[in-house]
Amino acid sequence: MKKKKDGISRLLEFTGKYRNLLGLSRVLSGISAVFILMPFICVYFASKELINTFMGNALNTQKLLQWGLCAFASEFIGLAIYFVALLCSHIVAFHTEKNLKMAALTHLVKMPLGYFEKKPSGKLRKIIDENSAQTESYIAHQMPDLVGAQVTIIVAVILMVLFDWKLGIPLLVLVFLGFGIQMTFMGKDTLTFMKTYQDKLEDMNHEAVEYVRGISVVKVFGQSVHSFKKFREAIEAYKKYAFAYTMSCKKGMVGFNTVVNASFVILVPAALLVGATSEDLREFIENFLFYVIFTPATAVMLNKIMYMSDYKFRAQEAMERIDVILQNEPQMVKDYGWKPINHDVEFKNVSFAYEGAEEMAVSNVSFRAKEGTMTAIVGHSGSGKSTIASLIPRFYDVKDGSIEIGGIDVKDLSQEELINQVSFVFQNPKLFKESLFDNIKAGKTTATREEILEAAHLAQCDDIIAKLPDGIDTIVGQKGVYLSGGEVQRIAIARALLKDAPILVLDEATAYADPENEHQIGIALKNLMKGKTIIMIAHRLSTIKNAEQIIVMKQGKLVERGNHNDLVMKQGDYYKLWTEYNQSIQWNIGKEVAEC
Ligand code: ADP
Ligand code: MG
Repeated sequence: MKKKKDGISRLLEFTGKYRNLLGLSRVLSGISAVFILMPFICVYFASKELINTFMGNALNTQKLLQWGLCAFASEFIGLAIYFVALLCSHIVAFHTEKNLKMAALTHLVKMPLGYFEKKPSGKLRKIIDENSAQTESYIAHQMPDLVGAQVTIIVAVILMVLFDWKLGIPLLVLVFLGFGIQMTFMGKDTLTFMKTYQDKLEDMNHEAVEYVRGISVVKVFGQSVHSFKKFREAIEAYKKYAFAYTMSCKKGMVGFNTVVNASFVILVPAALLVGATSEDLREFIENFLFYVIFTPATAVMLNKIMYMSDYKFRAQEAMERIDVILQNEPQMVKDYGWKPINHDVEFKNVSFAYEGAEEMAVSNVSFRAKEGTMTAIVGHSGSGKSTIASLIPRFYDVKDGSIEIGGIDVKDLSQEELINQVSFVFQNPKLFKESLFDNIKAGKTTATREEILEAAHLAQCDDIIAKLPDGIDTIVGQKGVYLSGGEVQRIAIARALLKDAPILVLDEATAYADPENEHQIGIALKNLMKGKTIIMIAHRLSTIKNAEQIIVMKQGKLVERGNHNDLVMKQGDYYKLWTEYNQSIQWNIGKEVAEC
């Protein structure tokens, strides 16, 4: 069970400077446990006084009162110390939770962007939030309580043997028997069950979110049965494991509770046996009374410890889940302070495969995109165009070869320098839930209002701004303010215009635009592209006809390179693509004519 220890000591690393406070909390909890046990002893002595009266003596109310006060006082002191103990442990717990979250978030910032494609941000947030919260309750409550319970057990065992070992020993045997049963039936599988159980719970939550998110697609395509199936499967899987987990605990729990709560079954015959041979019947009755008062309390404490191991598993699990995030290889960022000497982009024998994929998405690709020129990348879907584009700003890192900007490997550029060098316009850009103004400003945080309005103007956003209630200060996504795909694209272009990076990567930037928007996006892009090094992926080949260089990709390999005229003359792969493209236009026009 080495693993078990690792999880918790790993968790404790995150307590930071508050670690000693946790120790103090545990010591205090142990002390409070002794005080909280005191009333049992007081009740015992009080009962003794009462028994005394049965023996014909007068009731000593003074003493009775004393024991009562003593019980009250020790309970009060015990609780007060316990309160301080919990105060300390809560301080530690909140800081640990904060430290865990900070560690996970600062780690995520260092991950390559491509990582977030596999791990959606919503899922990551849930993992971090839920699991760090899970550790909070363990540190705040279970860790001090465990010491309290342990002290209780030790004191209880000592008292039980001390009062009358002939009654104490059989009871202790019983208690350990109960524990033995418990350990035999639980423990081994519980940890693995707990893990699968948590996995299934996470899956179920994820599928529920996906189901709700995809509800529009579900409705439009009448996919309810298929889509619900996945959600349902996740629920079924969860149910199966929740059930299996519960069942795995059943025997142990039942065995333990039966044995421990059956202590009276032993106590009574043992008492009869011991009582029959006892010389001092009065002393025996008094001792017997002690066990009657004390045994249920011991059983309660043992139960408490038993449930604590459950919490411990959970805290370990939570830590491991956060560790999965922390152990992901971060992207190495160097900062030599080097600056590119020009704005050329050069691929040198670049190969790359996505994680888990058998085939290379891009293999042995070399080309140079000269400063201030346009390089177009064409090829069928899946040929590796977007992969090439996403390697430039290091969304992923190349497996082999290198990419240089102005003579410097992108891996040797500081993050800031790289970001300043390259702008990226995607197929479907996203806007923050902020004003359009702030969305554009994200391109250059130091920009003035004039600069932002100018960028919006150049990106053909004037008509969008004019129709919104608060103009450029309207918040997107609020009060029913939604923009069409083409409109969002123009805002994204404004952002890139403001940023004014010398290298521009465009990945099918006009793919989702409707005819109206397409014209405006075209103008906006023209303004954006002025004087830049451009790497452009376009499905409309007419837009890249004038590119200085066209690169043709086929199954991850660069198969042809040249300008439009050369490549058409060559009658190779580009020529085929060009012919296909023209045919599709003819077909579209033909269709429109037929519809008229
Ligand atoms: P294109 O942009 O030319 O359509 P891509 O560069 O997107 O092509 O894809 C190249 C290859 O890599 C394809 O086989 C595709 O299935 C695969 N691929 C693309 N993105 C991912 C990803 N995030 N994870 C795994 N494989 C991917
Ligand atoms: Mg693509």
